[in-house]
Amino acid sequence: MTPEDPQNYCMRGHRVHALAPNEIKEVAQRVCEIMKIKKTSFKGKRSEQLISRFEQYGIHVDVIADEEWIDATRATVDPQKAMIYVPEKFYSDLCRGRAEAIRIFLHEIGHIVLGHRPLLHFAVENPREAEDSEWQADYLADSIIDLLGLPKFDKQMELKF
Ligand SMILES: [Zn+2]
Repeated sequence: MTPEDPQNYCMRGHRVHALAPNEIKEVAQRVCEIMKIKKTSFKGKRSEQLISRFEQYGIHVDVIADEEWIDATRATVDPQKAMIYVPEKFYSDLCRGRAEAIRIFLHEIGHIVLGHRPLLHFAVENPREAEDSEWQADYLADSIIDLLGLPKFDKQMELKF
């Protein structure tokens, strides 16, 4: 891996408090311990049990009817309200244990557990990858996937690579 040139780093999300990879990995581990997330948590009916466990911790998943879903994204999150919004189609992919849906779901969980909110920055330095909320959420999702040994791609997707 080549380190990003800090001068050229292009932010994908909000600029947030910087987190090092190790700090994110620690959060990933704690989330798995507290929420009792295992490799098998995304199998069949267990996804629904996992989602109700998140509800107990104040993280809510709001399933929106497909025809009412106008967002171009697969899922969306309001970290301050700890609300994840998904269309029915995505929810059924998640409950079927589709790797892509799991990663997106864990990414949205990442925005919540990492406490993302845009910061007002008056810093003169250019933003760094470690301050990018999208990079942090991706890193958290991948940390959980690695930790649990979840599949990274769906079978259908593997054909494309
Ligand atoms: Zn995101």
